[in-house]
Amino acid sequence: MKVAILGTGYVGLSTGVALAEIGHDVCCIDVDGEKIKQLNQAVSPIYEPGLEELLIRNLASDRLKFTTSHRDGVSGAEIVILAVGTPQGEDGAADLTFLEQAAKDLAAHLEPNTIVVIKSTVPVGTNDEVKRIIEANCSEEVSVRIVSNPEFLRQGSAMKDTLEAERIIIGSDDQGAAEKVKEMYRPLHVPCIVTTLRSAEMIKYASNAFLATKISFINGIANLCEAVGADVNDVARGMGMDKRIGEAFLQAGIGYGGSCFPKDVKALYHAAKQSGKDLGLLAETMKINEEQRVLLVKKALNRFNGKLTGKKIAMLGLAFKPETDDMREAPSIEMAKLLHEHGAEVIAYDPVATKNAKKVIGDRVSYACSILEAVNGADAVLIVTEWDEIKQLDVAGLVEKMKHPIIFDGRNCLDEEKIRACQNIEYYPVGRPAII
Ligand code: NAD
Repeated sequence: MKVAILGTGYVGLSTGVALAEIGHDVCCIDVDGEKIKQLNQAVSPIYEPGLEELLIRNLASDRLKFTTSHRDGVSGAEIVILAVGTPQGEDGAADLTFLEQAAKDLAAHLEPNTIVVIKSTVPVGTNDEVKRIIEANCSEEVSVRIVSNPEFLRQGSAMKDTLEAERIIIGSDDQGAAEKVKEMYRPLHVPCIVTTLRSAEMIKYASNAFLATKISFINGIANLCEAVGADVNDVARGMGMDKRIGEAFLQAGIGYGGSCFPKDVKALYHAAKQSGKDLGLLAETMKINEEQRVLLVKKALNRFNGKLTGKKIAMLGLAFKPETDDMREAPSIEMAKLLHEHGAEVIAYDPVATKNAKKVIGDRVSYACSILEAVNGADAVLIVTEWDEIKQLDVAGLVEKMKHPIIFDGRNCLDEEKIRACQNIEYYPVGRPAII
């Protein structure tokens, strides 16, 4: 099939590469000329495991193209996918400016039988609104066919998640259009759920809000475990073996971040309020997460009697999660700001996100090229992102480099045996007994 994609970010690019890989003829369109130039040189503008290899292969096979021209990209396409950003607006609601603009950009070139698929995460009713915008801006012979197809990939495993998805949601009031989109995905052999536009839109928000709530729930339990002397890792394991609960998303830590959970929970909460429903549960999910993000700073303040002035603090990891260079809503941003305000000298290390981190954290921290450089002479280490390199670090070697071997592990990711083998170490995980 001939497919065009508007928006070549994490979702649009992963989808485009995956659809080309399964044999479709794909053209990705973006308004960012620099991004398109890089992609045409087979260089991925984002860090995503496995993506660049597939990008190179599919560019070479001529199944994948990149352009800044909406007219060229959309020409002859049977399906056009909208995958532009829907960031958080000032009032907490989803900001649909990019999507509305993309709909107008598309409308001018839309051909009569093309199906428009909305993959961006959007509040219930948005697909209808996009249809209206396109209808108002396209030529008369076009009857607009809309399909909602929310995306569930996770950054850090986007290619795997796209090629081996657990389910595909297809929402439409146009049965033929839904069938055509199902057909596009058929080579993936993934179960499809076909539903209405509005249910599809809601499935995405409800899924993200549920996962975020699961994280906040276990973080609330973790804080209680600390207060009463229980171990949240054992608690989570014991809970997770119950199939009704499941073990995923029960890792206590410093909360969720990234470009999706924070904004999607807020947007759903906001949309519910507009419909006269108060989803107070989500208010609590957000509150716990806000507090959890700065937990390590609070613990460090507590350990150093309220004074961090002149203390050298190493932050290990900056990205909101491992295997991505994305800094959107990363807990490290707020942590760096607070540590700086308290007069700490912060030196940070991340294997891939440093370039993006510099744009949002700036010179509040200095940036090291290795773990050992970051921890050299440090009074304390804060573990922020559980990159493999950090999980597997040589604790004894790290302790040797530090001024004071005090570690606050925000991801409960260090090996306890290695910790216990070190003399004089102070190790503070989340929701588990400290090792002192
Ligand atoms: P992104 O910011 O990485 O990419 C969006 C791209 O759209 C940018 O490259 C931008 O230049 C481009 N764009 C903006 N306006 C355009 C236009 N008129 N025409 C063509 N291109 C245009 O965003 P993302 O992270 O890929 O997210 C896209 C959507 O998918 C959002 O709604 C998000 O909530 C949802 N989503 C994201 C993830 C994720 O993990 N990132 C997962 C599932 C769903």
